[in-house]
Amino acid sequence: MRKKLVVGNWKMNGDRARNLALIDGLKGRIPAGVEVAVCPPSPYLAQVQALGEPLGLAVGAQDLSPRKEGAFTGDVAAAMLLDVGCEWVLVGHSERRTLHGEGNGLVAEKVAVALEAGLKPILCVGETLAERDGGQAEEVVRSQVMSVVSLLGADAMARVVVAYEPVWAIGTGRTATPEQAELMHACIRECLELAGVAVAGVRILYGGSVTAANAAALFAQPNIDGALVGGASLVADGFSSICAAAAAAAS
Ligand code: PEP
Repeated sequence: MRKKLVVGNWKMNGDRARNLALIDGLKGRIPAGVEVAVCPPSPYLAQVQALGEPLGLAVGAQDLSPRKEGAFTGDVAAAMLLDVGCEWVLVGHSERRTLHGEGNGLVAEKVAVALEAGLKPILCVGETLAERDGGQAEEVVRSQVMSVVSLLGADAMARVVVAYEPVWAIGTGRTATPEQAELMHACIRECLELAGVAVAGVRILYGGSVTAANAAALFAQPNIDGALVGGASLVADGFSSICAAAAAAAS
């Protein structure tokens, strides 16, 4: 059985004092049997790593550079993320794809660089509302996933976590129904299997307005292996309830 994984994406929120208060609120509330990580903005990675470690809370970055080092102003290399204690890294979040013009090719390169460096990449994929309304949701998500498989190969892809995040559900309060999410997760798993990836161990997270109220129903689906949580990860009570729902689903 795949271990459930719950990841909080803090986006561009927080400061030293608020981070401290938030991690403090999670003390004693990270359930055994579930993997939990948070992704703070990069200036706070070391702070949050130090605070989170005694709680069993891992840390991830929200992005990484595809380059190793050098004259790339503003970029952060995989080795630097490892050096400050990062275990995870989000790649291809829809806000990076839309606001920073990241295409499938660059996203695939970043996943490859992360894996090579020893980070655990979480590949974010998902369709827009127009694509869903146009009946293209599966095709869009399949091509996002396959561009990474093509570069990495099936063996390396088995070490990637996939996060299905329909763009229309991110930060909108409009979550996909458990059935809608499950259909897409099953489609992603099938697409990976056809590509020769050992899918039994690949975790596929759902992201998009996950809250304490809807988490249990999502986690009850056979192909939903956890969640990537944005807004609700900024409140200790909400985030720890989502982690508890993951633990309950796993037991
Ligand atoms: C996200 O940004 O990855 C996300 C899922 O956000 P939210 O939970 O706020 O929709």
